[in-house]
Amino acid sequence: MTTDEFRRYAHKLADWMAGYMENVEKYPVKSTVKPGEIFNRLPDVPPEHPESFDNIIRDIEEIIMPGITHWQSPNFFAYFPANASPPSILAEMITATLGAQCMIWETSPAAAELEEKVMNWLRDMIGLPGYFQGVIQDTASTATLAAILTAREKSTGFSVNENGFSNDKRLRVYCSEQAHSSVEKAVKIAGIGRKNLVKIGVLPDFSIDCRKLEEAVTKDIREGFVPCCVIATLGTTGTTAVDRLRPVGEICKENHVWLHVDAAMGGTALILPEYRWMIDGSEYIDSFVFNPHKWMFTNFDCSAFFIRYPELLIRTFEILPEYLKTRTRGQVNDYRDWGIPLGRRFRALKLWSVIRSYGTEGLREKIRYHLSIASNIAEMISKENDFELLAPVVLNTVCFRYKPAGKVEDQLNILNQKLNHLLNDSGKIYLTHTSLNGRYTLRMVTGQTNVTMAHAEKAWQIIMSVARNIQL
Ligand SMILES: *Cc1c(COP(=O)(O)O)cnc(C)c1O
Repeated sequence: MTTDEFRRYAHKLADWMAGYMENVEKYPVKSTVKPGEIFNRLPDVPPEHPESFDNIIRDIEEIIMPGITHWQSPNFFAYFPANASPPSILAEMITATLGAQCMIWETSPAAAELEEKVMNWLRDMIGLPGYFQGVIQDTASTATLAAILTAREKSTGFSVNENGFSNDKRLRVYCSEQAHSSVEKAVKIAGIGRKNLVKIGVLPDFSIDCRKLEEAVTKDIREGFVPCCVIATLGTTGTTAVDRLRPVGEICKENHVWLHVDAAMGGTALILPEYRWMIDGSEYIDSFVFNPHKWMFTNFDCSAFFIRYPELLIRTFEILPEYLKTRTRGQVNDYRDWGIPLGRRFRALKLWSVIRSYGTEGLREKIRYHLSIASNIAEMISKENDFELLAPVVLNTVCFRYKPAGKVEDQLNILNQKLNHLLNDSGKIYLTHTSLNGRYTLRMVTGQTNVTMAHAEKAWQIIMSVARNIQL
């Protein structure tokens, strides 16, 4: 493709992109294709000869688009959001065009220094103490793995990196029963072993029971285990429950245990002064992750990882082959030593673009609006006799179920599962579920970039009418 052709297609695609944003509500939110449908429409062998880009665009429209679930639809209330926004998309276009691989300072000084600056902005925006330093990771899963690996090295005097696990005492990691599955994955990968992940029971509000945490740590020490890391969650994936950092942190400090905070979705709310209570106890935190790619209008992937003592992280990950030796080493941040991959995308650009385009006050306004939608919906749900809320509404997520009179628990579970499938298959809205105390629970998350009260109200009308028409 020549640059002239590129220019022509780029203009055409810019129109396509703006049109998509304007029309995203016209697609079924959740793709309706069956397994294998897209695969079978694609040729089994690649083309031998060049194809025109027009053909590629045509196939994107005809084959690919039907298999897309529209995360950027304001009728997307499923999972947690993966927000995009125009300033983020524009910056991604530049990142793609530059195609810089930002593994070390020298391979693009601006990328390293912008990342350092923007992460300082973000740290101050969410109220973390000024001694934290930040690095952008691809996902919260990777950041949590990096935290657990660093905690592992710290608690073994950096010996596992050197010798592997030998006959040392077994390490223990703790999180609540409501913590994200990425914790379990990280514990497996880190060689600590899933059996050494201790899942602590929760209080009625689904936050960690600190008394049980303390008991578990004390018991483990008595039995010869080494408590290594506690993961506290600010905004659990099921219900956005918030673990209390201060009592958790005191237990960690007392027992020399690393405190990692997973605020993947909820961290965004910390830009609001009225939500700063969530990091009361921040002086105990060793590492912290939150995802601007979830609820801060920055395209996937962009996960903000903050660390109190970067030297521990760097010592855990550092490698120095001859071909990566530079004259600036030690004077600058070489982010390849701050995590798992060597190669790194220029992700700071989109984050910078988003923060500048909205402004911190503009971001706060949007987040407050999303939070107000969730509390309005919760209020509407609580007014209906045949529906019930199943968890406190702390952030942007409402957990509820349909509960007509005269049904036992098993029937209610079947009924709500059916309701969820009918709603999603309708293409009008998309919700996902969790299980709370054995109850099939619908979750409605009001965090999509362009969601409005009108979208949420319409969704609630649809939910009520579909529920009340189900014949079991
Ligand atoms: C979404 C989520 C994660 C995982 O995020 P990725 O960036 O997809 O790895 C981890 N923890 C919590 C609490 C989450 O909600």
